[in-house]
Amino acid sequence: MHPRLPVVAALALALVLPVAHAAQAGGDIPHDQWNAPQKPFRIYGDTWYVGPYGLTSLLVDTGQGLVLFDGDLPESAPVIEAHIRSLGFRVRDVKWILNSHAHSDHAGGIVALQAASGAQVLASAAGKHELELGGADRSDPQYGSAPRYTPLKDVRVVRDGETLQLGHVAITAHDTPGHTAGSTSWTWTSCEGRRCLRIAYADSLSAISAPGYRFTDHPAYVADFRRGIAAVAALPCDILLTPHPDASDFWDRIARRKSPTDVDALVDRQACRDYAAEAGKNLDARLAEERSGGH
Ligand SMILES: [Zn+2]
Repeated sequence: MHPRLPVVAALALALVLPVAHAAQAGGDIPHDQWNAPQKPFRIYGDTWYVGPYGLTSLLVDTGQGLVLFDGDLPESAPVIEAHIRSLGFRVRDVKWILNSHAHSDHAGGIVALQAASGAQVLASAAGKHELELGGADRSDPQYGSAPRYTPLKDVRVVRDGETLQLGHVAITAHDTPGHTAGSTSWTWTSCEGRRCLRIAYADSLSAISAPGYRFTDHPAYVADFRRGIAAVAALPCDILLTPHPDASDFWDRIARRKSPTDVDALVDRQACRDYAAEAGKNLDARLAEERSGGH
């Protein structure tokens, strides 16, 4: 969850900081537009966008089943199902559902999608723990303010660096703790003809908390956060995608495409490093703010 900044604070941020700062906090697309309508479409090769407008959900067609990344809000599940069908795929062909992090805006819809498809849900070890608590994990900086959702069952653990093979697609899990302890980023390659591009679905890296939580009180958590940021910077990354599309300027990049098949507007080999660098600055700013008496 990304609590929306108060309007005045958001305006002040927008005036002072580049857009990426506000986007990092999920401030560009208001919560009430997270589930706004969005036609599903091909991002590149076998990778499709099937989420609503404000929350990413991705579908990868492996040739031997479908892989779905994130289920978004509970109310997003029927939207995602309809998108899968409208692209000509079958929901029951979804074999795996992979999660970025276990907050309700990315995981709340998974229980319904799991029931509809019979898919196996996979997450990091910490992510499994959080998903099976329905988003009520006490180690979460947002514990107490993040909405809860129906706890998941039978989540399979994927180790850091483990590669999952389904059909012709190999998907690698990367532990990228920080936004939550179980935050996971996923990478795979999609091709059109001979041109193959490395896709990084990098998790949120925003240092957001429930009121009263201080990252400075949790040095081990902050050390893990920095490792997570470094891991994102090192991802194989031609196309960066993020659970909140605005955190990586996704819709701006889509708008810059010259045609629906023009992928060059989406490609930025520096994007993961830039996204991580921005997150590091934001974390430093948060820690400095805490030390100076804020939070
Ligand atoms: Zn979140």
